[in-house]
Amino acid sequence: MNTPSLSRRRFLRHAGIGTLALAGGFRERPVVGADDDVPAPSAVTSDPPGLSRLTEHLAVYHGPINVGIVHQGARALLFDCGDGSVAAALAELDGASIDRILFTHHHRDQACGAFALAAGGARIVVPADEREHFDNVAAYWANPKSRWHIYNQHPHHLMLAEPVRVDATMADGDQLAWGPAKIRAMATPGHTDGSLSYLVEIDGKRIVFCGDAIYDQQGRVWEIHSLQKGTQTTDYHGFLGARPELVESLRRIEETRPDLLIPSHGTIIADPSQAVERLVARLDRCYDRYVAISALRHYFPKLFTQYAGRKDHMPIRPGKPAPDCLRHIGTSWILVSKDKAAFVMDCGNRRVIEGIEQFIEQDEVRRVEGLWVTHYHDDHVDAIPDFQKAFDCPCITDRSVAEVIGDPLAWRLPCISPSRARVDRATRDGESWTWHEFRLTAYHFPGQTLYHSGLFVEGEGLRMFFVGDSFTMAGIDDYCAPNRNWLGAGVGFDRCIALIEKLRPTHVFNCHVAEAFDFTAEQCRQMRANLAEREGLFGQLVPWPHANFGMDEPWVRCHPYEQRAEPGAKAAFRVVATNHAETTARLACRAVLPRTFGGATAARNRATRWSSVPIPSKTDGEVPLSFSIPSDTPPGRYVVAVDVRLDDRSLPQFTEAVVVV
Ligand SMILES: [Zn+2]
Ligand SMILES: [Zn+2]
Repeated sequence: MNTPSLSRRRFLRHAGIGTLALAGGFRERPVVGADDDVPAPSAVTSDPPGLSRLTEHLAVYHGPINVGIVHQGARALLFDCGDGSVAAALAELDGASIDRILFTHHHRDQACGAFALAAGGARIVVPADEREHFDNVAAYWANPKSRWHIYNQHPHHLMLAEPVRVDATMADGDQLAWGPAKIRAMATPGHTDGSLSYLVEIDGKRIVFCGDAIYDQQGRVWEIHSLQKGTQTTDYHGFLGARPELVESLRRIEETRPDLLIPSHGTIIADPSQAVERLVARLDRCYDRYVAISALRHYFPKLFTQYAGRKDHMPIRPGKPAPDCLRHIGTSWILVSKDKAAFVMDCGNRRVIEGIEQFIEQDEVRRVEGLWVTHYHDDHVDAIPDFQKAFDCPCITDRSVAEVIGDPLAWRLPCISPSRARVDRATRDGESWTWHEFRLTAYHFPGQTLYHSGLFVEGEGLRMFFVGDSFTMAGIDDYCAPNRNWLGAGVGFDRCIALIEKLRPTHVFNCHVAEAFDFTAEQCRQMRANLAEREGLFGQLVPWPHANFGMDEPWVRCHPYEQRAEPGAKAAFRVVATNHAETTARLACRAVLPRTFGGATAARNRATRWSSVPIPSKTDGEVPLSFSIPSDTPPGRYVVAVDVRLDDRSLPQFTEAVVVV
């Protein structure tokens, strides 16, 4: 075996450290209007690839992700393949053909090029624990748990749209000798549950392909939302819950004393120990700031015993009794007027309806005059259709909530309910009206979720604020990142707390807590200062122009998410993106059509043409996409992936829509 001995400095220079390309980069080209049926490998529109030659037999291709290439003569072994555009780069390496591809994890941006390369003869080798996320993805897409009442984020949703043949699997400790390389697989869960890293000993060097366990030398990660993971309950309560697992994985990688780390997204890491220490410190600080004002300390104090007594964590307020004009059933608060009319907030299950019927029987309530909806989560809306059959009254909520509960098929969000509600009145932010002896004011209240309302009720000398699930006496309810908790002045919880500062409620009510509470001015100040600090800290943790890109998984999404269509008809959706950056960004998209559209499985995907739009800072922008469904398409549930570019980032198959034919 030829193993040239390079000095460290010469080796790093040889490896191109310091001038490394950023995975995900591409040079902007004009894009044209939407059109059907353009063949799609992404390579067609990507510029010629950047290659870093790390040793005589090892190179890295910098496409939308970094792809490792071990080459000897006419054969190559790859680590991951991204969109498959790496195939063109092999021409520069003696035109080597791909013998096999070893995958670190199943994500779609990581592996969407696998089908074409497998068809070309490459053997597909995947982590044993993620095998079904490659060759049996239909099971995921058909599973109602992947679609409705979503409380678990594992397996992670960035799942291949269509299956790819698997030839072999590897698991922790498995070894493979291939040409000049000795390869050992290591289980490194965190970014996904079944992630593997590969230690490659080649040409006298030790190099680890570590997937998305880490992003770069600064100690960042590609994004934060994939670390959502439950420990005691569901993933829903587990913001940064995969952090301990990820840190353990990083330590395992460090123990192999690698010369270099090659992350999937990001840049080559020349001092692995320093990068790992930086990332661990960043994660610890971010988690500490999260815990300091977390509402979860009220629900699950045992999760946070190690933080007890911390001076810079917000003290938990005692509760206080609810006033006599209120009743509490399940997740519902019911406001009762002096003349026994009821105004109900939320209806998560039939017990609420039965409870109200009992109040009527006992003459505590004489009639139901309104239903207010705090937010779209299933435990607040599941029984609204039954409620609307039982009681003839208007359903009122904020516009953002009305959009989701009025058409749930169009959305895919945590805890979403398939129950469709009739909304009779969608309120504007700050709209007031009188109801019996009370003055009611509706607010848009992007707390626990972006699609959330607040209702301020004044009367009987009280200032009562119904905040849905957004606060407990311990602080803010932001423990599920995919709920879209934005950081920044004037958005998300900062906006909600500013409203509390303005309204100065005497009683704050959470749907799940049977007593009232309030916040002092000092607590409001402390929470807002914490959020501002977090905007900076999370921003430093991810390589995006704003922290929210790393937290807010649906920053780019399809609307409607799901639709029905007939064979031979056109299907259309909008790709909607939130530009969290301070400057205008350009969004470009195209739909990648299923290979099985039209019956027979095509050799490659077809795609629509690219369409693009500028999106001003802190606004939503959208790109309409449409395509026809071949008339011989058999009935089924099809996943239409979307290639996305945001400025110079190429994000293959980064979001998707579902078309039921
Ligand atoms: Zn990934
Ligand atoms: Zn909720």
